[in-house]
Amino acid sequence: MADYDIIVIGAGLGGLTSGAISAARGRKVLILEQSDLVGGCCSTFEKEGFHFDIGASVVEVIGSLEKAFSFLGTSMDKELDLSPCDPIYDYILKDGTRFQFPISSEGTAEVIKKVAPEDAAAWPAFAAYMKDFLELAGDSVLGSPMVTMRDFAGLFVKYPALLKYRELFTSSYEDVIKKWFKTSAMQQTAAYQSFYLGLPPELCGGVYAMLGYSEHEGSYYPHGGMIQIPLAYKRCGEKYGMEVRTGQRVDRVIVRNRTAEGVILSDGTAITAPVVISNINAMTLYLKLIGEENLPWLARVGIKSYEPSMSVPMIFLGVDYEPELHAHHALISRPLEELDDYWWNIYKKNKLPDDMFSLICWPTESDPSLAPVGHHVVNLIMTPGPYRLEGTTWDREKEAYIEKSIDFVTSHAMPGLKDHVKVVEMCTPVDYERRLLNPEGAIYGLQQETTASMVFRPAAKSKSIKGLYLSGASTHPGGGVPAVVSSGIIAADLVQKYE
Ligand SMILES: Cc1cc2nc3c(=O)[nH]c(=O)nc-3n(C[C@H](O)[C@H](O)[C@H](O)COP(=O)(O)OP(=O)(O)OC[C@H]3O[C@@H](n4cnc5c(N)ncnc54)[C@H](O)[C@@H]3O)c2cc1C
Repeated sequence: MADYDIIVIGAGLGGLTSGAISAARGRKVLILEQSDLVGGCCSTFEKEGFHFDIGASVVEVIGSLEKAFSFLGTSMDKELDLSPCDPIYDYILKDGTRFQFPISSEGTAEVIKKVAPEDAAAWPAFAAYMKDFLELAGDSVLGSPMVTMRDFAGLFVKYPALLKYRELFTSSYEDVIKKWFKTSAMQQTAAYQSFYLGLPPELCGGVYAMLGYSEHEGSYYPHGGMIQIPLAYKRCGEKYGMEVRTGQRVDRVIVRNRTAEGVILSDGTAITAPVVISNINAMTLYLKLIGEENLPWLARVGIKSYEPSMSVPMIFLGVDYEPELHAHHALISRPLEELDDYWWNIYKKNKLPDDMFSLICWPTESDPSLAPVGHHVVNLIMTPGPYRLEGTTWDREKEAYIEKSIDFVTSHAMPGLKDHVKVVEMCTPVDYERRLLNPEGAIYGLQQETTASMVFRPAAKSKSIKGLYLSGASTHPGGGVPAVVSSGIIAADLVQKYE
């Protein structure tokens, strides 16, 4: 008799949603998390009275979160106190032009008339096109399992309207943005978001160009910090008997005759279950926890063909003044071509940039309780950072990089910042690996080019190991809070169907 029905490795959002939904369906579920906090990349830690989000800074496209709560017999309104982030962005372009985009599409059109009049006519058409696509994609592309080619082809049979958007599936993010917008200003407002998929505009798939619009459907911040989202799913799952143990690292999946039978912890303890759901990076899962000796040769070759996603250096600041920012997110952007150029000539060559760009997150704008009275939290997501640095290491560069980043943000977006910093913390790509065991500090699981997306991404129901399922950023639909919650629903549904 096994100890549990289901063991989940990792208490990231994908693991918690799949575990909680399975518990609500009557399964005896254990979640094992190596860190002391739940939530993985969507979590919040405290230092000297300041609460810093370790990764995700807002949640958008919240349909999958609502759906997961409904499976748990509750609703998002009951479980989370979400504040809308409006304006969505405070943009600072390369030439210093600064303006804000509100959530309202009509309000955005008014701003565009002033800052990029040539593109004013294109915006309403782009917004309407992407709104329709998003409504369709939410259930179909993002919400369906992609285990076999049949699932992929079946998508277009079940949702024939998707064919209308086929150019999004065959173009790059950059092609789509350039097709709609001709001015550098408008391209700069939408280009950076391709890095939310871990890639520059040139390499990112065209379907994700919907990000330029989807943020206008609503961008939210939970009262109490991003950790409130995973905590809500944990709380809901625990009501159905789900058990979550933190500080418990899984070192191996027990595999016999290509069937998962449980896990072995770092202290040697074995815990058995006929179903294992992995919420960790799929390369680590297959190559370390399962082991190449347990994989058919095609699966060995397949899993080695992936690359961990990009990482970023992130700097967390507690400050003793009210920053001159105009939105929860400020973006110091760069022209689209410079982002591509950065990728090939700096990031891919393992260098640190001279010219930076940055996303500034200001959570205390949405929730002042995250800092002591009269103080604020400002998190800097800096230019994507390579894991390896040529001729040096992140540990050696860390202090100088913090100083350089603060100087950059002080001069480009937040006058006075450098004189008001009271608390500093930083996660380099190497620190993300140390804290969350993400290989190479990968922040979105695996790199998400078209050839590693949908049916080409590691399947949510393992094709090599019976009883093994995947949730989280490494499987379809990929990285990002709504996507991993969707992956958690898909994994729970597949377990229900097959086990
Ligand atoms: C800097 C940054 C900014 C981001 N910004 C946004 C944003 O604004 N909006 C958005 O939607 N998304 C954002 N994301 C992406 C989003 O946070 C992630 O895609 C998502 O949270 C990943 O969830 P996951 O289910 O894949 O699990 P993960 O978050 O990867 O969690 C996996 C968990 O498994 C644990 N674990 C690993 N190995 C083991 C082991 N051997 N045994 C036990 N436990 C283990 C880890 O400790 C971790 O808690 C951001 C991410 C980062 C890092």
